[in-house]
Amino acid sequence: MVNQWLKFNQSILPPASCLLCETPAHGLALCTGCLQDLPWNLHACERCAIPLPEELLICGECRPRPPPQQYAIAPLRYVFPADSLISRLKYSRQLAHSPLLGQLLLDAVMAMERPLPQLILPVPLHPLRLAERGYNQALEIARPLAKALGLPLETQLVTRVRHTRSQRTLDAKARQHNLDGVFGVNTTRLANLGHPTHIALVDDVMTTGATVGALATLLQRHGVTDIDVWCVARTP
Ligand SMILES: [Zn+2]
Ligand SMILES: [Zn+2]
Repeated sequence: MVNQWLKFNQSILPPASCLLCETPAHGLALCTGCLQDLPWNLHACERCAIPLPEELLICGECRPRPPPQQYAIAPLRYVFPADSLISRLKYSRQLAHSPLLGQLLLDAVMAMERPLPQLILPVPLHPLRLAERGYNQALEIARPLAKALGLPLETQLVTRVRHTRSQRTLDAKARQHNLDGVFGVNTTRLANLGHPTHIALVDDVMTTGATVGALATLLQRHGVTDIDVWCVARTP
């Protein structure tokens, strides 16, 4: 038991060397060089966070067909080495990465010119996948973020009621179909929360936006008029 506890605490301590190049990082997750060299997503569509040329605010997809969320933010482009950092968090239980990812997202949120939401909702995993992985990476990213912003972290409002096939091999249309009826809203919880109207959805990666889009559409049907999507990285 004691050993387990020690192991857990070691795993959440900041690593002594840089996660990417392994040079000494003085207790930080990344050395200054690797931090600077991350694939930052400096100019992006404000509705779907896809990287854009500097002069544009909305991308060619969102202009004719606006997505359900009002706003989306993703500090990184999902390319090397952001992809490897995130998959290490996701698939190999390297929880040491999550404070880093949460911090990157926090910096981006603090820089946005938009009112903060009433609560933060990490995109839920299906219970089967949660059992298999042992943790929800979106929750791990959202936890330090909610704490730093002083916002409630909501984990009971939405559940994943249907297990989906992995989205990775599907095209956009198939992804949308794959997501029909996936999420369910707990209406009692919604009432207990006083029917919030502005919520931020947190996830690690936004690929086509189909998952957060399905969740946002469902929440809109329950009176959440204003939805932000906060992701660490966006597939270009
Ligand atoms: Zn480094
Ligand atoms: Zn867009």
